[in-house]
Amino acid sequence: MATRKAQGVLNEADVWDVVVVGAGNAAIAAAVSAGEHGAKRVLVCEKADRKNRGGNTFFSGGLFRFAFDRTEQLLEIAPEVKDLEGFLDGVETYPASAFQEDLLRVTGGRSDPELGKILIDNSFDTVRWMAKLGIKMEAAVTLGGVVVDGKIKWPKGTLLRAEHEGIGLSTSWFRIAGKKGIVIAYSTCAEALLRDKGGAVSGLSVRGPGGIKNIKARAVVLGAGGFEANQSWRAQYLGRPWDGAKVRGTRHNQGDGLRMAMEIGALPIGQWSGCHATPINAEAPAYGVSKLTDKTNRLSYPYGAMINRDGLRFVDEAENFWSFTYAKFGGIILNQPDSIAYQIYDQKTLHLLEKRYSTSEPIVADTLDALIDKLPVIRDVAKKTLREFNAAAGHGSFNPGVLDGMHTQGLALRKSNWAQKLDQGPYVCYPVTGGITFTFGGLKISEHAQVLDTGWRPIERLFCCGEMVGNIFHYNYPGGTGLVSGAVFGRIAGASAGKAAARI
Ligand SMILES: Cc1cc2nc3c(=O)[nH]c(=O)nc-3n(C[C@H](O)[C@H](O)[C@H](O)COP(=O)(O)OP(=O)(O)OC[C@H]3O[C@@H](n4cnc5c(N)ncnc54)[C@H](O)[C@@H]3O)c2cc1C
Repeated sequence: MATRKAQGVLNEADVWDVVVVGAGNAAIAAAVSAGEHGAKRVLVCEKADRKNRGGNTFFSGGLFRFAFDRTEQLLEIAPEVKDLEGFLDGVETYPASAFQEDLLRVTGGRSDPELGKILIDNSFDTVRWMAKLGIKMEAAVTLGGVVVDGKIKWPKGTLLRAEHEGIGLSTSWFRIAGKKGIVIAYSTCAEALLRDKGGAVSGLSVRGPGGIKNIKARAVVLGAGGFEANQSWRAQYLGRPWDGAKVRGTRHNQGDGLRMAMEIGALPIGQWSGCHATPINAEAPAYGVSKLTDKTNRLSYPYGAMINRDGLRFVDEAENFWSFTYAKFGGIILNQPDSIAYQIYDQKTLHLLEKRYSTSEPIVADTLDALIDKLPVIRDVAKKTLREFNAAAGHGSFNPGVLDGMHTQGLALRKSNWAQKLDQGPYVCYPVTGGITFTFGGLKISEHAQVLDTGWRPIERLFCCGEMVGNIFHYNYPGGTGLVSGAVFGRIAGASAGKAAARI
């Protein structure tokens, strides 16, 4: 592939084999894959400037969920994990059938079975491809594992993450792209898709440092993220109070790619009223910031109790591990009065709180009543709620590494696991709100990641990947699936685009 220095000003006379819109995990996977499949001149248009490049991928925890049948397979991706004492003994395999079951369960059976199968069947091979390209992976100690009796207990399927999390992943992708001679145009916003007379996509209109330019391309891949940062679209598609939600990641994912594609007849599909949103520090900034990335998350709620401003519990905090509930609990919290909730812990479980809780100061008091007196809640109701919770809790034996079945008895709203009494002060409270991560509505693609039109026919030379792919997630999401989905469909979209470009 030709090596060209990344440039700010694009030349309208150039004909690119493949132009990729976006510079996150999915888009760069597509750009690299296009190069592996015959594309000699690959351009990435990134709306953000160089300092803010990389989309949500940069802000992510870098956690990857993938299927594998043998523990030793992990060494093909992260050889160093063999040096972690007891790691391989503590790991359970995660066959494709288990991944499929998790995906279907949390999405209420709505996830497209064909796309789900492609995602799952390619998950291991794609993460291994990334590792071979030079993306270092490591054990996800602070994200996936729970320490029980001094040993890490790993949840199935989410064991590895990119070294240095999203920042490491993003930096690695840009390094790999640079080595492959892929040109990256920063501060370059794709605005419209161009078509030839036959209806095939032939390029893009972009706005960048050189003004508005029409860029010629033999194939285009859209990897421009969802519409989570667009307040107006959030109000339209997700409804109230989503327009007021804090955005956990990039401010650049405004639905541009979706809009451009739909303007030329692409078929919207999936849960356009749904999104991934998590419990985050109530004081988190309005958009993701690089010094915190995903450290605003507050996901240890299965070990405590959550109340709202009315003083009431409003979810079964422990219906499952956090990785199967966090993506829907953000939305449930956002819909509580004033979009706020209070996570309450006692001393017995404080050691189980994720390290990222240390990025905010908790409210602390010696007794539960004194703690409630410090919160802006309906106090008599909150005190009664916690008294009733304590009277109902404590049935079973506590084990944070498994669904221990330690539950409340007699409450209308049960806590199904890890339901210890809150009885060892000082008591600690973290106020949380719901932060939006990404939206679920997207475009209909074929098995080759080609975008279909509203007549269910492929749009010639248009491909799509990442958050823009519709019909994978509905209602909820199994943790660690966004990055693997982006990489799998990015790799496929790039291969398809590279091959399509070579045919012209
Ligand atoms: C805080 C946080 C933590 C997360 N942690 C994890 C995790 O641990 N594991 C996991 O699997 N998932 C995680 N996710 C989700 C994951 O980050 C996303 O699913 C994934 O990164 C999406 O990749 P993408 O390439 O589709 O989009 P993005 O990475 O968001 O990239 C979109 C790109 O498109 C660009 N763009 C947008 N519009 C235009 C335009 N008009 N022209 C040009 N460029 C444009 C953006 O600037 C950006 O570069 C997390 C997300 C957040 C926010």
